[in-house]
Amino acid sequence: MSHALSALVAGPVLTAADPGFAEEVAGFNTAFQHAPDVVVGATSTTDVVEAVRYARSHGLPVAVQSTGHGAHESIGEGVLITTSRLDQVELDAASPTVTVGAGVRWSQVIDAAAPYGLAPISGSSPSVGVIGYLLGGGLGPLARSHGYSSDRLEAATVVTGTGEVVEASADGDAELLWALRGGKHGLGVVTQARVRLASVPALYAGNLTFAEEHIPAVVRGWLAWTRGADAAVTTSVVVMHFPDVDLVPPHLRGTRLAILHLAFPGDADAGERLAAPLRALAPVVSDTVGPMALTDVAAIHGDPTDPGASWVQGVMLGEADDALADAWLAQVGPGTTHPFAGAELRHVAGATSRELAEGSAVAGRPAHYTAALVGVAPPLFDAMPGAARSVFDALAPWTVEELNPNFAGAASAVWPRGTETRLAAVRRRVDPDGVFTAVH
Ligand SMILES: Cc1cc2nc3c(=O)[nH]c(=O)nc-3n(C[C@H](O)[C@H](O)[C@H](O)COP(=O)(O)OP(=O)(O)OC[C@H]3O[C@@H](n4cnc5c(N)ncnc54)[C@H](O)[C@@H]3O)c2cc1C
Repeated sequence: MSHALSALVAGPVLTAADPGFAEEVAGFNTAFQHAPDVVVGATSTTDVVEAVRYARSHGLPVAVQSTGHGAHESIGEGVLITTSRLDQVELDAASPTVTVGAGVRWSQVIDAAAPYGLAPISGSSPSVGVIGYLLGGGLGPLARSHGYSSDRLEAATVVTGTGEVVEASADGDAELLWALRGGKHGLGVVTQARVRLASVPALYAGNLTFAEEHIPAVVRGWLAWTRGADAAVTTSVVVMHFPDVDLVPPHLRGTRLAILHLAFPGDADAGERLAAPLRALAPVVSDTVGPMALTDVAAIHGDPTDPGASWVQGVMLGEADDALADAWLAQVGPGTTHPFAGAELRHVAGATSRELAEGSAVAGRPAHYTAALVGVAPPLFDAMPGAARSVFDALAPWTVEELNPNFAGAASAVWPRGTETRLAAVRRRVDPDGVFTAVH
């Protein structure tokens, strides 16, 4: 039987009884199976308006999914709006900006911008969605040189909780633009956005892999190096740990290695000089660091591109000393037991610390580092919240109060107190009945 919404929207309207429902609600993180009352595959802002108005008039919550990279719980009711069909990318090399539909992934923008020597300030994984990422702020491989990605959000078309269409921009609803730059949830459905691109004439980037026995020297040496690092270079270290579960080949189970990621928007000579102390930290097993095409940025972190189950949680840290490396190694270094496949420290600060002149809602300006734990083995997921608590308790001396939503994972984001209050006021204004807040 066709759903009442089918007469109002051009895109597919599916309930659990319909063929194609499972494919429509599926997201990147397969740990969560969504079961909304109805899913609407939006093909236009008008489709979104109709879906929101329907939900509001029936007292149903509304959730939005683009790629599903950000799923941290299952959606079990209400109206799910999927945005993958809103896939237009319009590049204006002169401004330079790109205007994207809500379903666009960073990879599409990277490919469109690269021929002009332009790049979006995107994250480690180009398969992440532009809008979901920007709404949380966004800390990527060029974070220290170019700041939070949300600083470059210039305008957005937003469907509010009452089904109105609003333009968030400096000349339009400037308060909503302030909120969308990092405020993440409960701010309506963004159907289109304009984002400023960066001129990146050259990129020197890649990763260095080190064997397990060198992990302590690499983590200690890298952390000490970051304290004096050039403001334009962004680096991170992940300690990979292959869990003792069936999906890992037997010879790798329980083993570890360290991967150091580096990105510098500059030429090879300067890049070589910056990377030299990192190459000297310990014998390098694999070295992919060098001049890199803007279209190859996925290779810096090598994040997974195929859907799979994952569990993530993070915190943000302030200034570090040598004791942070010792605390981190005592939790996730060689000889430790934990259920995580990856334990990552990213160096931020630099441009991420600088607030926009007009301000923004982004959480995490005081952070100098992020720390994140990632699990990929579902049999171990139940153990992860407790294990993460132990790791993050050990980092308490360095932890800052703010927690950016893109890095919070299973935890709740924390904004500065004044920002929380101001964000709450914007949410009440754009969503007076709370159709979006019920999901979060
Ligand atoms: C492999 C991987 C790598 C990552 N790397 C980074 C990184 O380097 N830096 C970083 O900052 N983050 C990173 N993230 C986190 C990522 O930015 C967030 O999970 C982000 O929310 C994903 O957005 P999405 O649209 O792809 O996912 P979705 O799950 O589709 O969306 C996530 C949330 O965003 C909101 N949303 C999405 N679209 C809209 C819309 N049109 N209107 C209103 N709300 C919307 C909704 O609240 C939704 O629940 C990474 C995540 C993964 C899985």
